[in-house]
Amino acid sequence: MEMDVAAVVAEWIQQSRKIVVLTGEELSSESGLPDFMGSGINPHIRDFRENKEVKANYWKKIKEFYPSIVNAEPSPSHQALSELEMISGVDSIFTQATYGLHHKAGSSNVIELNSTILWVTCMSCGKDYSTDEILTIIEKGDEIPRCAECGSDQLKPPLSFPGQPPPHWEVREAWIKLHQADLFIIAGASLEHEPVASYPFLAKERNIKVVIISENQSPADEYVDAVIYGKPSDVLPYIVSKIKEGITIT
Ligand SMILES: [Zn+2]
Repeated sequence: MEMDVAAVVAEWIQQSRKIVVLTGEELSSESGLPDFMGSGINPHIRDFRENKEVKANYWKKIKEFYPSIVNAEPSPSHQALSELEMISGVDSIFTQATYGLHHKAGSSNVIELNSTILWVTCMSCGKDYSTDEILTIIEKGDEIPRCAECGSDQLKPPLSFPGQPPPHWEVREAWIKLHQADLFIIAGASLEHEPVASYPFLAKERNIKVVIISENQSPADEYVDAVIYGKPSDVLPYIVSKIKEGITIT
């Protein structure tokens, strides 16, 4: 980690009026969870809708996988961002992850760009369930859960399966907030896919300062104001500690 760059970023954070943060799968993996959207668990929406075997197989995998999500703890990155919200007024966090770990860490303004795995919605009548409720139904012996309201077997988490567009509201909200920001921090997020691949470039067009913190290189690295190559769980707590050093309690 480049400590001096991290210290400069700590100063930028203190000088900024409106900070937005984008996080991604590097943070999930720090908490021991795989990149769910890229894991191959989600089938194509057409197959899921039409094929009972695909549906049954999907719910079987969720049943196996879900306890690891429920038991996962926020990483030092999630904790540091929650602390930053309190001490330096991070306005909002956009995340590519679907596991709810920013909420678990105590962050309050979180936009889940890919929506969430913690809820299930009936595609026929719109009724929402917690994933826990649905898994209880499956445990009672039904391979494919049915909606208690309308009887449909078209239940799925609100996150996008292959063949579905990204959640509209979330992407739009993030877009609006990004436009109002003066500092944009990208931590542990892959910038390979839209809509987020364009975010650093759009921010630069609007003279928003952009910082990338990641173990990996990205196509945006040479266009932004600072890049810190390192584990977000090392870099973010270090930045928070630098900011705290500068705070005088009166
Ligand atoms: Zn229903």
